[in-house]
Amino acid sequence: MPRTFVSEARKRVGPKKQRILPIIERLRAAHPDATIALHFRNELELLVSVMLSAQTTDVNVNRVTEHLFEKYRRPEDYLAVPVEELERDIYATGFYRQKTRSIRGAMRVLLEEFDGEVPRGLDELLRLPGVARKTANVVASELGHAQGIVVDTHVRRLSQRLGLTRNEDPVKIERDLQRVVPRADWARFPHLLIWHGRRVCVARRPHCESCVLVDLCPAARIDVMPG
Ligand code: SF4
Repeated sequence: MPRTFVSEARKRVGPKKQRILPIIERLRAAHPDATIALHFRNELELLVSVMLSAQTTDVNVNRVTEHLFEKYRRPEDYLAVPVEELERDIYATGFYRQKTRSIRGAMRVLLEEFDGEVPRGLDELLRLPGVARKTANVVASELGHAQGIVVDTHVRRLSQRLGLTRNEDPVKIERDLQRVVPRADWARFPHLLIWHGRRVCVARRPHCESCVLVDLCPAARIDVMPG
């Protein structure tokens, strides 16, 4: 996109600090059902689901955990079976060797350092093997202790299109979002972008014609602009 066009578009929509609240309000109204798509019944299941969700779809994880969580109910259960058995049980989520190693490592630390309970703080979650920042952010947010903003592929794409960041690196994108999104919305905001990204602002050709953010978005397609 030519630079003049980009700066024209940015001028048209105004500064991000003024746009962020209407963006959040409109997305909230458009996607009242925007919540985490993984199925879980407790904190341990949440942690395991999020760990399994790397490089695969939430639907796929839910299919596997439906049976997995009947068999593995406590951290000890993941350590009580032979490695190969757990690998088999999570095979369909892909990267099953690495995920098995991470889950067993995390369960060991949960038992040794946290009395078998899933911690809520980001720093404590990051001490679990195989738990990187994104996983820790998702778990902490779902447990009501959002200390950051989850950045996945949808959050990255929409944040860029909406002119909320110019960065590519997830850590820098998160920092840009933290500066503009009110703290009370840190947990909800990624879900709103993820659902909007799946339903409307899809990767290839966004459906700007049916988007509630068209007048707030510098990347809106010119042929659908009002006036
Ligand atoms: S106006 Fe278009 S590019 Fe902007 S958020 Fe909506 S669908 Fe995405």
